[in-house]
This record gives sequence, C-alpha cells and structure tokens, in this order.
Amino acid sequence: MKKIVLYILLSLSVFSYAQEKKFKVVLDAGHGGKDPGAAKNGCIEKHIALDVVLRIGKILEAYPEFDIKYTRTTDVFIPLVDRAKIANDFEADLFVSVHCNASVSPKPYGAMTLVMGLSRTGMNFEIAKAENAVISLEENYKEKYEGFDPNNPNTQIGLKIMQEETLMQSIDFASAVQNYFKNSLQRKDLGMHQQPLWVLDATVMPGVLIELGFLSNLQESKYMKSEEGKSNYSQIIARSIIEYKNNLKGTNTIPNVLDIKEPIITEPEIVVVTTDSSTVVNSTIIEAVPAGSGYKVQISFSTKKLELIPENFNGLTNISVLEINGGYKYYYGEGSMETCKKLLAEAKLKGYKSAFIVESK
Ligand SMILES: [Zn+2]
Repeated sequence: MKKIVLYILLSLSVFSYAQEKKFKVVLDAGHGGKDPGAAKNGCIEKHIALDVVLRIGKILEAYPEFDIKYTRTTDVFIPLVDRAKIANDFEADLFVSVHCNASVSPKPYGAMTLVMGLSRTGMNFEIAKAENAVISLEENYKEKYEGFDPNNPNTQIGLKIMQEETLMQSIDFASAVQNYFKNSLQRKDLGMHQQPLWVLDATVMPGVLIELGFLSNLQESKYMKSEEGKSNYSQIIARSIIEYKNNLKGTNTIPNVLDIKEPIITEPEIVVVTTDSSTVVNSTIIEAVPAGSGYKVQISFSTKKLELIPENFNGLTNISVLEINGGYKYYYGEGSMETCKKLLAEAKLKGYKSAFIVESK
C-alpha cells in the first residue's frame, strides 16, 4: 500500500514538473567592467547593452512560463567562457546577447543580428573581431581559448558539431528580430549574418548576438541612448522571444508589450540559406531537403509533428515537412526563386514573419 501511495506521489510530482517546465532564456549584456565595448558620441556600449537587457528581462519575468538568467546585472567584467558556461549550465532554450556596433566612419547605421557561422568577409570580420577581442583582456587566453586568436581572420574557432536544427532555430529567431526592427521600429535593416563568434559557438543552444545600431552614427547613438530607443529595442526583443517560444512549443503566450506598431509587411526580406560549405561544416544533416525545383519556403521549425492540413498552417496549403534531428521543418510550396519570393510574401502575410527561402536539393 505504501508503495502505491509513493508511486502515485512520484507520478504526480513528475506530472506537475512537466506541466511547469519553463522556457529558459539567458540574457547576455555584452562587455562590462574593464571592457567597455565601443565608446562613441558619449555612449558606452556596455551601459546600453545592460540597460536594454535588464528591460527585456523585466518584461519576460512577468510571465510565469519564462525562467530568465542574466550573465551580468551590474557593470562587471565577465569572460566569454563564463558567459557560455552560465548558459550551458542553466540548460537554456535560447541565448540572446545584446551589443552595439561601431565603425571608424560616422556614416554606417542600422541593426543586424548575428548567428554562428564560418564566413569571414570584409566588414563582418571587423565586427566578429570587435566582439571576440575581449578574449585578449583575459589572462592565459591562449590556453583558455585553445589558440583562438581574435585578431587573425584565418584563426579557427574549435568548432563543435553544430546541429543544423540549432542553427535553423537561431536563424528563425534572428530573422524575426530583424523583421521587427525594420517594420515596427523603422530601423535600417542590415540583415541576419552568420559569423564566427566565440560566445555563440561555445553555447550549445540556439543563440543570437544582436547589434542594436551604430554608436559611431550620431543620430543612431542618440536613439540608442534615449528612453524611447531603449524601451523600443527591449520590447521588440522580448516580443520576438515570446513568439519564438510560442512557435517552437506550440504554446500561446500573448505578448503584453505595448507601444509597438504591428509590423507592416513591405518588401519581404530574403534570407537564402544554402547548404554550401560555409554552413554545413561539421553539421549533422540527416536528410537533404526533398527533391524539388530549386527552392522552398521554410515557414517554421517545431518539435511537434503537425498534420499537413491548412488549419494547422494559418490556411496555407501545399505544405511539406522534413523530419530532422528530432524536429520538423515545415515548408510552403516550392519552385524557382521568383516563385518562392511570391510564396514567401504570402507566408509572411499569413503570419509566418520569420519565414525564409531555402535551396531544395
Ligand atoms: Zn559588443
């Protein structure tokens, strides 16, 4: 009898644990302490990043379904290895790092979101260098980072096996953030880029590094420092996190985020994800995208298997699915790049704001 009671109690506790499993987000304010990050026009990156991150956290903490962890809540120096360790130990579902950009020229402005990748070209290497440079402020950095040299474009990050699923989810989230920046905040959209960033490589969950804007641009630095700017950025990012969680888990948390204009879908942003060597090194692709005529529109990625009926896809028909690494990628239509651009615009109008075009093999 005792055994049965114990069994029932155990089952109940397992059940309630499953019911209460929270969506864990690590919010990472870039730089801090002896590492100020970029400093231009009277703005210091570490302060803006922390302010925006604390605001994002405050919005999300109001929801019981989120569990938020910060890599820092004050102006302290945190080595990149520790940031990654915090996220990995916490077993976060999503890692969001907030930064500000800067250039030697006062002209560039706009927001961009970075996901892990291997490409190194022009201006983007400069950003990767700036964001990785903090490593050289640490003692014994050569041993700690296994010979990674932030100043050398040919240096190799000791890449682990990067799950394609994790990369796709990062891309999905990054695209949503950029769409909101562009459509709701009317920020200049510098797009989503794949970059070799140490902190994103060392974290095992989907993650992005957001560059809010350029401190070196006088107008943008004024916006970033303003109450309106910091409030808008944090609401957009919080909203993107909530929608990402809903999309992934099939849940329906309504973002209680005020003062944001609904995005007006103008010209859809095209992110072409090709499976060339820059994205698939060490990744574990189990299957290629099913045969088709060039391209497909990926509308979502979920761990849930959905029946391919219009009701499950906001009324869209012609849905196909690919099971990969224990998750499901859902596609809308297929065809030439021209056809897919139209399909992409339709998918966005139906609510798939972070849909993007993929090459089908
Ligand atoms: Zn930074």
